[in-house]
Amino acid sequence: MATGKCNCGAISVTLKNGLPESSILCHCMSCRASSGSLFTVNLAVNKADLVIDGEQHLREYADKNTDSGSTLLRRFCGTCGSPIVSVVEGNDETQFLKGALFGKGIPKPAAEIFSRNFESWESARDGVHVAEAMPSH
Ligand SMILES: [Zn+2]
Ligand SMILES: [Zn+2]
Repeated sequence: MATGKCNCGAISVTLKNGLPESSILCHCMSCRASSGSLFTVNLAVNKADLVIDGEQHLREYADKNTDSGSTLLRRFCGTCGSPIVSVVEGNDETQFLKGALFGKGIPKPAAEIFSRNFESWESARDGVHVAEAMPSH
C-alpha cells in the first residue's frame, strides 16, 4: 500500500497494491501549463486499485486542447490546486495519478512522452524510452 496527499492535505490517495514499477513522464503542453513545470510524473493505475479520500475537494477541468487530441479530465485539489489525477474522457479504467503526491521514492520512468516539446537544453534520462508523441488511444 502507498499513500500520498496534495499540498494542503485535503485530498489523500491510496494505492491498494502499492506504487507501480515505473512512471511515465509527460511533456505535453497541457501538463506543462497545469503543473508549472516542464513535465508531469504519472503513475498509470487501475481504477479499482485507487482510493481517493476527500473527493468532495476535487475539481475537474475538461482539457480539450491536448497534444493527443483526446479530451483529458484533469482533477485537482480545489483548495491548494495540486494536480491529483487525469483520465481520458470515456475511459476511466486507467487513471493517470500524479506521482509527486507520494513524496520521495517515485519509481523510475519507463517512458517520456511528447518529447517533441523538449526545450533545447533538455534531454531524456539515460535508458528511458522516448516517444515524440503518444500512441493514439
Ligand atoms: Zn489540497
Ligand atoms: Zn501530459
